[in-house]
Amino acid sequence: MLAVCPLFAQQDSICLPLARHRGLAIHSGLHPNSQPQRTWAVPNSMKIHEYQAKEILAKYGVAVPRGEVANTLEEASTVARKLFAEGASGVVVKAQIHAGGRGKGGGVKVARTREDAELHAKNILGMQLITHQTGPQGQKVQRLLIEETADIDRELYLGIVLDRATGKLVFMASQAGGMEIEEVAAHTPEAIFKETIDPAIGFGAWQARKLAFALGLKASQINQAVVFLQSLYKAFMDTDASLVEINPFITTKNDKLFALDAKITFDDNALFRHADIKALRDTAEEDPLEVEASKYALNYIKLDGSIACMVNGAGLAMATMDIIQYAGGSPANFLDVGGGATQEQIEHAFEILLSDSNVKAIFINIFGGILRVDRLATGVVAAARKLSVKVPIVLRLEGTNVEEGRQILKDSGLDFQVGETMKDAADLVVAAAAKAGA
Ligand code: GDP
Ligand code: MN
Repeated sequence: MLAVCPLFAQQDSICLPLARHRGLAIHSGLHPNSQPQRTWAVPNSMKIHEYQAKEILAKYGVAVPRGEVANTLEEASTVARKLFAEGASGVVVKAQIHAGGRGKGGGVKVARTREDAELHAKNILGMQLITHQTGPQGQKVQRLLIEETADIDRELYLGIVLDRATGKLVFMASQAGGMEIEEVAAHTPEAIFKETIDPAIGFGAWQARKLAFALGLKASQINQAVVFLQSLYKAFMDTDASLVEINPFITTKNDKLFALDAKITFDDNALFRHADIKALRDTAEEDPLEVEASKYALNYIKLDGSIACMVNGAGLAMATMDIIQYAGGSPANFLDVGGGATQEQIEHAFEILLSDSNVKAIFINIFGGILRVDRLATGVVAAARKLSVKVPIVLRLEGTNVEEGRQILKDSGLDFQVGETMKDAADLVVAAAAKAGA
């Protein structure tokens, strides 16, 4: 997956809300109103649940509250009973979905008795939880984390993320934890402290101490915090994470430190060497079309617009979305079919594009290199026939065997429109979509 963000590569928190935060912010500078800004990206990241992230962090010695996951009401009740029996003064019932902002959305509830915990579990399990990161349709809660409550003194923030401008990891810390960190980043960026990590040296204890002091921790908490931050960094490195975020990172009244929430995403490209982590993927949390696309190695991200795009190359796909917007339309997806797409992949790509009911027109933008234009054209004609595609298709083709490709389209007898330039094609597809009621 690809997400681009003006501040940090954050999916939990500091990310542009465009396209329900899973999609792409478009900032390659084509739009006349867009401000030039730095772009940050989390390419191909796999998300996991909070309870899974906490299990991983616990192995690295990061302090997390006692608790267990529950898939049913019975399990929730069993866990709550156990925690109370072990001396918990309360438990917190937490919805497990791949999105943040659960607290505000009613997905995090504290209970002082087992009966209350059961009641909360009953309300939360199965609910359609809506947060600022799920979009208006929300996400169905299929499991819960039941944890011992912590006696919170302060709610702080910690995050590790790659800064693509410097090519280095940045360890971030803020006293403004618990709330939406993107608000802090937007309005009071000076409230976020940052330590850039030199890859040759690693995260130094001195840097951890600097951040611990910046967080205003008490002398009695500093050493504990240094170990905590170093453990987070080790977990990040060992697991090939792309993001580790603890929000809130709390201090308790008796000077203990805990990760009260935990978010980890992993670099897809490194998952081959982490079978245990790969197994944590929960496709029930992902968009069904994106899951389908991943089966055919198609890099697809669903967006909310009406013009489907099929493009080879991520950069060209980004530019295609830009130019659709520039021409007054809105992209229905990001799709990079890759350099060497097969006919089968092109067919599957079509199927996926067409199963999005918002789609009113298709824009195919191909620069033929490894994927020769004639082969693409053959694939498109075959797929359009096989699937009896009804929506208008506009193509912009350049590169190897472009003339042959155009001839194949012409000879097909199907109704394709071909734009001479990217801009012409964008205008054509926006007009076609508008005509079809977009
Ligand atoms: P998010 O809203 O999805 O980020 O979920 P969090 O896990 O961060 O929980 C949201 C908020 O719930 C936290 O900022 C806390 O204020 C509160 N919360 C979570 N766990 C506990 C707990 O054990 N005790 C208390 N009192 N509050 C909690
Ligand atoms: Mn949180």
